[in-house]
Amino acid sequence: KNICSPAGFIKGTCMDFENVETENKKISKILSKLVKTTFFKTIKVDLNKPCKLWDSNDFCYGQACSVEGIASTDVPEKWAKKPSSSSKAAPVFGMPSKAATPKQTSDYAVVDDEYGKGEWIDLVANPEKFTGYTGTSANQIWLSIYKNNCFGVAPFIQDDSPFTTNSQLVYPPKQEKRFPAFLQNLATEDNYFSFKPSIPHEINMFYSIISGLHASTSTHICHDYFDKESNSFKPNLGCFIFRIGSFPQRLNNIYFNYVFILRAVQKMSHYLKDYDYSYGNLKIDKKTKKLVHGLVDTINNISHPFNETKLFNNENTAHLLADVKNNFYNISQIMDCTDCVTCKLWGKTQVLGLATALKSLFSTPEAYFDKHYDLANLKRNEIVSLIVTLNQLSQSLNFITHFRGMYQNFIDEH
Ligand code: FAD
Repeated sequence: KNICSPAGFIKGTCMDFENVETENKKISKILSKLVKTTFFKTIKVDLNKPCKLWDSNDFCYGQACSVEGIASTDVPEKWAKKPSSSSKAAPVFGMPSKAATPKQTSDYAVVDDEYGKGEWIDLVANPEKFTGYTGTSANQIWLSIYKNNCFGVAPFIQDDSPFTTNSQLVYPPKQEKRFPAFLQNLATEDNYFSFKPSIPHEINMFYSIISGLHASTSTHICHDYFDKESNSFKPNLGCFIFRIGSFPQRLNNIYFNYVFILRAVQKMSHYLKDYDYSYGNLKIDKKTKKLVHGLVDTINNISHPFNETKLFNNENTAHLLADVKNNFYNISQIMDCTDCVTCKLWGKTQVLGLATALKSLFSTPEAYFDKHYDLANLKRNEIVSLIVTLNQLSQSLNFITHFRGMYQNFIDEH
């Protein structure tokens, strides 16, 4: 029953699936326009940082694995050029700074410096999709994330599909004609979780964030899957069923991440509305601001999507925050080991987006987002990543709805 159609409450949040999908219809319309604006599609990422963990030697050279950069002359000077020290106190809001900028100790991820090394990338021109990056390298990264940085919670099962192949739902292409027991089998990690004694909510949240990121990436891959027969990218239902749709936990975690970021946007709403997105093109600047306001107002209308105040709030759990930050930071460094540039771009961007949400919810006092904006001390890249990651999740929700329809047609036809 759960295949492609999750129902009830999203574990770890205060919202149910149906409600989130209804809200996403409105949010997704605004987001899809917002991420195409110059401010939000332009990001600086260091894609050449060496992998500190192992020798990368499984490089994906295919065209889909590479990205097209933007010439630095085409990047608005305002973003590319470091502000002079006299203007440093008020880099984005144009208001006088009342306090010295605090030392940046609250980061949950490496934040590539816009003025340092790195490439300027147009995210719209380099979408997240199937690239063909697979095998030892990709597996090693996920393995390293789950095994070494998820508090021992996460199972990592190589042969993960509890289903056998169906001739019509072939993914990846296999010869045998066997039928899956789609509705009886529960996926392995769901069994694992149901047998696990109670885990602190904070650790469950951490695992959900990672697994949700992984599942959302897989959803994009399956939706923009390269079909060799037609030589084009198109949705692959088998891919979705075998990698995400048949795992209620993975589906849950995509929705979890979406709701988690919605709550971060709510907390940051004044800050996001007042932020200076302009770069000198009056028409586009006005449009960007209007879209941000529309987005924030729509998200603010959702009551209590997620309650962050219940986490890390007592003597048994407060200490976990340092570990969560540390592990997330490690994961952001693992991204440098990704041997496919497009994948690295999206891996780094979304890890930073989630890290910005974590930082906002757990390490930034409310007042910093209400009036003491300069103390929030966020970089442009963090704002871009937050919104872009929300959009990737929003698209994943749309893709899930699409796959649900495809799956229903498949069932009707068989
Ligand atoms: P993988 O997705 O590699 O998963 C490995 C194992 O993890 C599975 O066997 C399973 O046991 C477990 N697992 C899978 N999903 C979950 C989940 N949601 N929660 C918990 N456990 C899970 N490929 C592209 O084509 N395009 C991209 O943009 C892209 N971006 C990537 C970004 C990063 C940072 C990385 C590390 C890889 C990326 N890849 C991308 C590769 C892609 O994620 C897969 O690794 C690849 O398609 C091989 O898939 P797989 O079926 O072996 O399983």
